[in-house]
Amino acid sequence: MGLEVRDVVVRYAGATADAVAGVDLDVADGEILALLGPSGCGKSSLLRAVAGLEPLARGQVRYDGADLAGVPVHRRGFGLLFQEGQLFAHRDVGRNVAYGLETARVPRAERTARVRELLDAVGLAGYERRPVTTLSGGERQRVALARALAPRPRLLLLDEPFSALDRGLRERLAVEVREVLKATGTTAVFVTHDHDEAFTVADRVGVMQAGRLLQVAPPEELWRRP
Ligand code: ADP
Ligand code: ADP
Repeated sequence: MGLEVRDVVVRYAGATADAVAGVDLDVADGEILALLGPSGCGKSSLLRAVAGLEPLARGQVRYDGADLAGVPVHRRGFGLLFQEGQLFAHRDVGRNVAYGLETARVPRAERTARVRELLDAVGLAGYERRPVTTLSGGERQRVALARALAPRPRLLLLDEPFSALDRGLRERLAVEVREVLKATGTTAVFVTHDHDEAFTVADRVGVMQAGRLLQVAPPEELWRRP
C-alpha cells in the first residue's frame, strides 16, 4: 500500500503563503518517487511533514493504511538522508553504518554481516575500519546511505543528498542510489531541484511549484510534455 499523502498543508508562522498548499500523493511499495521543483517550492517541507519533523496544518499522512498523526519520527520506520551526511565523526565507517542496528539491538554477528553487505552495495567494500574524517564527500554520502538503509526502513526519505557534490559525481551517485534502492526493494521519496537527477533516480517524478504538486508522471512522459 505504501505512502499516502492527503491534502497536506505545511504552514510556517509569519509566512504569507503556505509552504505546502494541499498536496495529495501516493508512493507505492518499492517505488522511487522524485519531488522536483525550484528552490523554495516546498519540497523539503513536504518531505519533513512525511517524516514527522514538521507538523501538518491540515491533511493526513498514512503508511500502509495507518494514519501517522501523533507517531513520532523514530517510530515511523522511515530512513532519512539529508545533504550533509550527519556521520558520527568519532565512529569509524562500520560503526556508523551499524548505528541503527545497535539501537535496534540486532545481534553483533548479524550487524557485522549486514554492514559488510551494505558497504558492498554502495561500492565501499572493506571500508569498515576507515575513520569517516578520511573520506571524500561522495564516500561520506555513500556511508550515510548505507547507514540509512541498515535498519531496512519501509520508506527512505532523501533530501538533496548529493547537492554538495560536483555534477559528475552526482550523476554517478544517482545511478548507484537507484541500483541500491531497487536491489533492496526500498520505497523512497527523493527531493531534488535537478531535472537530470530526478529523471535518473525515479520511477515517477512529481513536479512542485509554489507549494503545489502540478503533475506526477514517469520521466519519459514528462519529457514528452510541450
Ligand atoms: P524547497 O525544499 O523546495 O527549497 P522549502 O520546503 O524549504 O522548499 O521551503 C518552502 C517555503 O517555506 C519557502 O518559502 C521557505 O522560505 C519557507 N520555509 C521553509 N522552512 C521554513 C521555516 N522553518 N520557517 C519559515 N519558513 C520556512
Ligand atoms: P566494543 O565491542 O568493546 O563495544 P567496538 O568499538 O568494537 O567496542 O564496538 C562498539 C560497538 O559497535 C559494538 O556494539 C560493536 O559490535 C559495533 N561494531 C563495531 N564495529 C562494527 C562493524 N564493523 N560492524 C558492525 N558493528 C560494529
